[in-house]
Amino acid sequence: MHLPAETDTAAADAGLAWNHRFAALGTDFYTELRPTPLPAPHWVGTSSAVARLVGLDPDWLTSDAALQAFAGNTLLPGSRPLATVYSGHQFGVWAGQLGDGRAILLGETAQGWEIQLKGAGRTPYSRMGDGRAVLRSSIREYLCSEAMHGLGVPTSRALCITGSAAPVQRETVETASVVTRVARSFVRFGHFEHFAARDLADPLRTLADYVVDRYYPECRASAAFGGNPYAALLNAVSERTARLMAQWQAVGFCHGVMNTDNMSILGLTIDYGPFQFLDAFVPGHICNHSDTQGRYAYNRQPNVAYWNLFCLAQALLPLIGDAELAQDALESYKTVFPAEFMARMRAKLGLASARDGDAALIDGILDLLARNAVDYPIFWRRLSHAVQAGDFEPVRDLFADRAAFDRWLLSYSELLALYGRAPAALLMLKTNPKFVLRNHLGEQAIRAAKLGDFSEVQTLLRLLERPFDEHPGHDAYAAFPPEWASSIEISCSS
Ligand code: AMP
Ligand code: MG
Repeated sequence: MHLPAETDTAAADAGLAWNHRFAALGTDFYTELRPTPLPAPHWVGTSSAVARLVGLDPDWLTSDAALQAFAGNTLLPGSRPLATVYSGHQFGVWAGQLGDGRAILLGETAQGWEIQLKGAGRTPYSRMGDGRAVLRSSIREYLCSEAMHGLGVPTSRALCITGSAAPVQRETVETASVVTRVARSFVRFGHFEHFAARDLADPLRTLADYVVDRYYPECRASAAFGGNPYAALLNAVSERTARLMAQWQAVGFCHGVMNTDNMSILGLTIDYGPFQFLDAFVPGHICNHSDTQGRYAYNRQPNVAYWNLFCLAQALLPLIGDAELAQDALESYKTVFPAEFMARMRAKLGLASARDGDAALIDGILDLLARNAVDYPIFWRRLSHAVQAGDFEPVRDLFADRAAFDRWLLSYSELLALYGRAPAALLMLKTNPKFVLRNHLGEQAIRAAKLGDFSEVQTLLRLLERPFDEHPGHDAYAAFPPEWASSIEISCSS
């Protein structure tokens, strides 16, 4: 492994103050190491919004010093790079030890944001992997992190991408890239599973105490679950995960690899791989070409999340000490998910509160969307404008079965009248985005980037950061997917 020279650090002074609270947990949890330098790096994209968030000067972020630091060639002064160890269930099967095979945590900024380089070279947890990430998957992660944030969905964020001509072997030879991502914590369900599977009670407790004290302090004081803070933690994670799933389902997001090592203890969307936003509403859609069984199909996500929470419950059981209590702590998932999902869907319909008949209306439209394979984002945006203008023809045009749509519209109009069209439209236009990161949009940006044109990445970023705005002149980015979009195959290869 090439280690950056100590003297290189001086060139990369971002003026960041660091905390190292994860590192303070001790070496049971990670291995300290240096990133592997990326030869002759260049910028692919930078986000000034995320720079400001973590306490970095956005102007500095575009400097050569920043480029070298975020390519892994110099160390930011005060950073303390490490790779963490975790295990997990992949596609429903215990996979044993995994860990950060290509992600390197630099530490935590004074504002409490952890900064991670993804694709920065081999670690002790790389197994057969090369520790690298390719340009294509880094662009997808970068854009989707910011798109999800723009939609109001909890997610890790992306600060920047660097690229290089260095070859990386996948199905074909591609080029290396490093995406810098940011989150309050990158702790996964799999971190807990790792220590539980090895009967390592002390580090398991250390990790749980760290997560409770740092991120869920209310669990320490809670009288619920017999005052058991670990059961309270499991309950809090279940509820956050339920809310996250409700948001994924409502925006039409498919994650693609919901392995327990890709589940955030904070209920964030993390580890963007073969994800996809639905074009046509196909409930059984499988976005991951490697997922031959459809385990992670769009309509299975809520159940898979519960299955994953069950794995977390088993891992926390030695701390909770009572299987019934652990089961109770999971229970709320079953009420929070449907309640949150209904609330999200009501908002999409412009219904600001619950009323009799709304559940049937939601079931009815989802069934119609599925039977007519209607484009999901376009339907909701058109419906929002239709409610605003009082003209439903453009929405009706989306359905092959117009009579069925007309019947639904009749009931919808009755309910809508109770709320008023104007306030409903206002709610809908900030709930139903004009711009989503459809596969073909990402693909176009990737194709241009492979030819050295990164402008499309930044254009998309601008649109997706504010997906509810109209962005005049950019309607092509809100149009139906082209014919070739359905032939895009995204696999786990990244
Ligand atoms: P993922 O499916 O991307 O969540 O990755 C599953 C596991 O494989 C994690 O432990 C990753 O760190 C590891 N991994 C994936 N790709 C690579 C790679 N190119 N080099 C090293 N480790 C990798
Ligand atoms: Mg992962």
